[in-house]
Amino acid sequence: MSVRILTRAELALQGVRADAPVRRPDGAGPSDDGHVLVDGANAALPTNPDSPYFVRDGRVWLGDEDTGLTLRTVRRPRFYELATADGTPYEHIARLHGADVLATTVVQTCIRYAEADRCRFCTIEESLRSGDTVAAKTPAQLAEVAEAAVRLDGVKQMVMTTGTTAGPDRGARNLVRSVRAVLDAVPGLPIQVQCEPPGDLAWIRRLHEAGATAIGIHVEALDDDVRRRWMPGKSGVALTEYEAAWDEAVAVFGRNRVSTYLLVGLGEDPDELIDGAGRLIDRGVYPFVVPYRPMRGTLAARDGVTAPDAEVLRHVTEGVAARLRAAGMTGADQGAGCAACGACSVLRAAGG
Ligand code: SF4
Repeated sequence: MSVRILTRAELALQGVRADAPVRRPDGAGPSDDGHVLVDGANAALPTNPDSPYFVRDGRVWLGDEDTGLTLRTVRRPRFYELATADGTPYEHIARLHGADVLATTVVQTCIRYAEADRCRFCTIEESLRSGDTVAAKTPAQLAEVAEAAVRLDGVKQMVMTTGTTAGPDRGARNLVRSVRAVLDAVPGLPIQVQCEPPGDLAWIRRLHEAGATAIGIHVEALDDDVRRRWMPGKSGVALTEYEAAWDEAVAVFGRNRVSTYLLVGLGEDPDELIDGAGRLIDRGVYPFVVPYRPMRGTLAARDGVTAPDAEVLRHVTEGVAARLRAAGMTGADQGAGCAACGACSVLRAAGG
């Protein structure tokens, strides 16, 4: 088991020598990848011509050694060929993640994007500058694209994230409107919303009442020194605010319908990170463990910060997966969202 998880961790960090027709070059959060299926499960891997891993006959090879992992790329979805009546390509409104997840950043700007405040792993406004997306997606646009993606490409769930806005809802207001519009067009589609802890916790209930299945409230690190170093703006939101928001979200959405990202490679002690994840699990919150990767356009990559060691990623992933199993929590049971998709983490391969 451990060797396989280590290989999967190395793939997540070093990527694979392969072309992927469905890519996510930049955007919110820590990802920069091609979308593939590894052993049939969603995986977002760097497509890296210098990776020692390559694909032959649908399997992943390291030199002349067959790793035993299968890999197939996700095909370009049909909805990418469409555009709205005003000429906006659907692909600029929402993207396919993995084989069956529709993902969108409802508001592609963030009040924390000035260099002094910006999370050092984030590129949320870069795809805006490169012209690959639009700054604010309207509820009607999202509904139109979601309907087409479900009908034409068999999308099974949707993830809606947002840059942080200036009001006390921190972006939740737009998410409420967007969830309602999408569910009017596609009743029953599982949707995960992602936002910072809203200043007014009533927004969490409003998101649930709008019909969201799950919510991600992403802290990324649990150590305050690490938070200040990596997230100078966002660390102004105290951990106690996150805890209050997670607890309210678990009360409203239910146990294991709430998640948070935890990034490996920001300098947090690996065993403290595993213990912190254990405390989240005790609260009913799924800790989605993801490696930091030096993604083009981030401040960290500019400053030469490198990805963590694969062995550290394996250690944290297996430690957290064991605690998830002991608690009877799986990512799939989130119903929607990153933990249900699993592509950006190795947790699912480790049984979480
Ligand atoms: S885990 Fe989340 S960010 Fe990563 S591919 Fe899946 S939906 Fe997208």
